[in-house]
Amino acid sequence: LLSGCGKSDDVLVLGTNASFPPFEYVGGASGNEFKGFDIDIARQIASDSGKTLKIQNMKFDSLIMALNAGRIDFIAAGMTITPERQASVNFSTPYYEATQVVITKKSDTSIHSITDLRGKHFAVQLGSTADIMAKKYTDKVTAFNSGFEAIMELNNGKVDLVLFDSQPAANFMRKNPDLKIQSLPFAAEFYGLAVAKKNPQLLQQINTTLANIKTNGQYDTLIAKYMK
Ligand code: GLN
Repeated sequence: LLSGCGKSDDVLVLGTNASFPPFEYVGGASGNEFKGFDIDIARQIASDSGKTLKIQNMKFDSLIMALNAGRIDFIAAGMTITPERQASVNFSTPYYEATQVVITKKSDTSIHSITDLRGKHFAVQLGSTADIMAKKYTDKVTAFNSGFEAIMELNNGKVDLVLFDSQPAANFMRKNPDLKIQSLPFAAEFYGLAVAKKNPQLLQQINTTLANIKTNGQYDTLIAKYMK
């Protein structure tokens, strides 16, 4: 029996924010397909559970609320495992290691170390680990609903820098020849898939799929496909 919100027993609903290439983005031949590293992993999880994957694209900042409200079954959104988030959701085993990087105009030579970030005007993705980190260095933080918008703000000269995850930052560089990435010694972050605390069975299924794709070579194939 189908419930009013379109969920049924043979559907697995993924929540994501498809503006984080190469993990999740909208593209493909038709220009409106969900693609990416996380999306392929999510499809494998659905397939291993004998279910059809349905994708709900929403603001990054709304994902955990949607999960705990039962509107989605799991999150795959390049989401970093943090103690604060672990208070409200369960995370899978870590599936990707990342770090924050600083994106500035190519002409900006003012940043050599983390202390040079003090007082700068940051653009970040709303609700991200970068958003939280930025506030340690400055009170000038402008948060956007996507990394694209943060990059646009930097291109328009309205902020000094964007603090963003390493891999999507590298991806954005290809279309932004006037920008550069600076790697500073920020801590490693580990991405996890998130599941509601009341759904340990799905967490188990996700961890099984993650373990399988690591041993059968599919994980490495996905890395080669998406991480360029
Ligand atoms: N890894 C970062 C976080 O979890 C950013 C994720 C994102 O913007 N999709 O906050």
